[in-house]
Amino acid sequence: MRRILVTNDDGIHSDGIIRLAECAKNFGEVWVIAPDGERSAASHSITLRTHLDIWPHDFPVSGVHAYSCSGMPADCVRAGGLCLMPGKPDVVLSGINYGYNAATDTQYSATVGAAFEGAFQGFRSIALSEEGTSCHEVADAYLKGILEKWIDRVLPWNWIVNVNFPGCPLKACKGLLENRRASKGSFYKDAYKEKEKLPGGGVRVEVAGIYNEDAEEGTDFRALVDGYVSVGFLRNVGSV
Ligand code: MN
Repeated sequence: MRRILVTNDDGIHSDGIIRLAECAKNFGEVWVIAPDGERSAASHSITLRTHLDIWPHDFPVSGVHAYSCSGMPADCVRAGGLCLMPGKPDVVLSGINYGYNAATDTQYSATVGAAFEGAFQGFRSIALSEEGTSCHEVADAYLKGILEKWIDRVLPWNWIVNVNFPGCPLKACKGLLENRRASKGSFYKDAYKEKEKLPGGGVRVEVAGIYNEDAEEGTDFRALVDGYVSVGFLRNVGSV
């Protein structure tokens, strides 16, 4: 029986972690350990200067162990896999994130960060993300098959599987592309705009990304722009 750790950077209340935990039950004993609120874009950050509080959580999927945590998604993998669970997880599933984690955006992603932490600990790890909140048809149709294929796959140390589902209706999805390399681009080219002047000569700015679909062939970004499910590998620091 596999022991599966499920987390999500959108928090334990997110729709994506509920759907992922429900599907993960097909593959083993599920331990949901996730932040008590939104932690998106926290990357691989962890909590070292204070304690972590972990509480049993009344999770809406029956038959799973569920805990909320005051820390980051990577903390959930560390504290969950090294302390809370009765033994190390066989696999970490991180997601399903609200919003793509493709191309260079993966560097900022705490969905990917949690999966990388799993890889650091020697656990097989899969990050899963989808385009948005409105249509889950593609994710829900492809999720189980993707887990069947990848959940036991042993990769080199510090490698993870990174999966993205387009948010289109299932009939508009063109299929699944594997071995997608990470694009050097991003869906939103970052820019900043001045929001207001602050007293004392300060200025308040906010990020104002500019959407583009300038994606190279063979990449995760290209697959998603073209309406495919994208599956690829990401390799974290420490590998040569
Ligand atoms: Mn998120």
